[in-house]
Amino acid sequence: MRILVTGGAGFLGSHLCDRFLKDGHQVVCLDNFITGSKDNIAHLRTTSGFEFVECDISTHYEPQGPIDYVLHFASPASPLDYLKYPIPTLKVGSLGTWNALGIAKAKKARFFLASTSEVYGDPQEHPQKETYWGHVNPVGPRGVYDEAKRFAEAMTMAYHRYHGVDTRIIRIFNTYGPRMRLKDGRAIPAFVSQALRDEPLTVFGKGQQTRSFCYVDDLVEGICRLMQADYHQPVNIGNPHEWTILQLAETILKLIPESKSEIVYKDLPQDDPKQRKPDISQAQKLLKWNPTVDAQDGLQKTIPYFRERIHLLDTSPEE
Ligand code: UDP
Repeated sequence: MRILVTGGAGFLGSHLCDRFLKDGHQVVCLDNFITGSKDNIAHLRTTSGFEFVECDISTHYEPQGPIDYVLHFASPASPLDYLKYPIPTLKVGSLGTWNALGIAKAKKARFFLASTSEVYGDPQEHPQKETYWGHVNPVGPRGVYDEAKRFAEAMTMAYHRYHGVDTRIIRIFNTYGPRMRLKDGRAIPAFVSQALRDEPLTVFGKGQQTRSFCYVDDLVEGICRLMQADYHQPVNIGNPHEWTILQLAETILKLIPESKSEIVYKDLPQDDPKQRKPDISQAQKLLKWNPTVDAQDGLQKTIPYFRERIHLLDTSPEE
């Protein structure tokens, strides 16, 4: 297949490019580097079958040649990033999804939307099933991401129902692994970077809010399985093991025993979801998918990546 990946230089997008090339496909990788990085795809530049196009999918893009699959993964995805880029976040979820669907329609390609557990907002149902409609504040700081993704899902279903585009929707729960930016602001890169620099680990609130963290390889496997399945409704992919954020911070400190960091408590950001855990029974039934990497192993695979790059923060604070 010839596969178009928007956001292909991002954390998840670049892992997908790797997997598709490994499986013998051709990849057209699109990114505007708003939060993606040239480093994430540097190793692919000379790989046969890999093509890179610097472009913002929120503006017009017409790919040359056949395309069999469009995966729309472009978007700022950390709360810090979508606060910094609120309008590009809204645009890539709305106009970007519209453009990517237009490409799929024109090329008679399948379409795959990277949606998010954020569509559930601060959920009042726990764990979250795909049938739950969510509890989102449209005008809060997270609304730019949550509502853009909710719109993206609606647009995807409209192209499926009205134009007959063959679509898939994944709702991605918190995912981690190598290639997250040191300063992207999400809990795992923040705590690991802080621990490696002997800085205090900034736990927001009392750290009693929960999340469920999935290692990136498990997520990529779930995506590949959903690409093959004949199913158009959203599917949750995530690791149902639920932690408090305080437990996460303490675990990271244990895994970096030389760290002199302590834990400090900071204000909880507005609308921070109190709990989040995927119900993955749909993925288990439909895709025969289960996460296989437990948190200890996943963090052990992730910490060396941050260790190798931590010195960059001295010269490039935005890294
Ligand atoms: N968090 C924290 N300290 C940080 C970064 C995040 O306590 O330095 C908390 C955050 O308030 C949230 C959880 O960790 O409750 C997960 O945040 P993240 O930004 O990773 O993703 P979210 O699930 O909120 O999109």
